[in-house]
Amino acid sequence: MSILRDLVSALDGGTIEVVDLTAPLSGETPILKLPPPFADTITFGLEEISRYDDRGPAWYWNNIHTGEHTGTHLDAPIHWVTAKDGEDVSQIQARRLIAPAAVIDVSDRVAGDPDFLLTVDDIKRWETSHGPLPAGGWLLVRTGWDARSSDQEDFLNADETGPHTPGISVEAARWLASEAPVIGVGVETVGTDAGAAHSFDPPFPCHAFVLGAGKYGLTQLQNLAQLPPVGAVVIAAPLPIVGGSGSPARVLALVER
Ligand code: MN
Repeated sequence: MSILRDLVSALDGGTIEVVDLTAPLSGETPILKLPPPFADTITFGLEEISRYDDRGPAWYWNNIHTGEHTGTHLDAPIHWVTAKDGEDVSQIQARRLIAPAAVIDVSDRVAGDPDFLLTVDDIKRWETSHGPLPAGGWLLVRTGWDARSSDQEDFLNADETGPHTPGISVEAARWLASEAPVIGVGVETVGTDAGAAHSFDPPFPCHAFVLGAGKYGLTQLQNLAQLPPVGAVVIAAPLPIVGGSGSPARVLALVER
């Protein structure tokens, strides 16, 4: 028996489907906007080096300009002050980047409340139906926010009081960091914290607690609606940027059909 040969056969035969959870990366990809006086990241950009021309007659290539936290990306622990001696993105063991996923769907509640916050009770209720969260796996939060991902304004959903996007409550962030066996949390929004999380106590609790516990964040995911609540396997592939606080990532899910 060869498990890998069986895997390839299943991929060829369609009994295992590959679902791309990654947003296309371009100058149109929405990015985080922090209020003054904080420094912001840049929009993704391509800078042409040559395109079958005098600069390189037979080849086309670009330099890329991007933030580490642009588009679908992984947050490494060192991103947050609560883990400033923690792993940078190059130090994450490859083994940890292939992991099972639990998918909790709260899109119906987010539709009526863009400031919706996931609670520990929500997760425990999910566990009653689907079993415990996977050890060494991801909790992926399906909010429906990926439908807004082609438009910066719609995606950040800000008004004079700040951004209004769904996220994770302070107590749920603390619980996911210290009680749950997961390696991290994945979301469809621009960051793992809610839009209003600057006003929480502590501010940005998902970053503070989850990264502080040496766990990871995945953001700007899409197509979570195509995943079952349990059983998918996620392959998250950030670039091993030495000293990097995160990296754009290709994130794929394997799903049995
Ligand atoms: Mn980030």
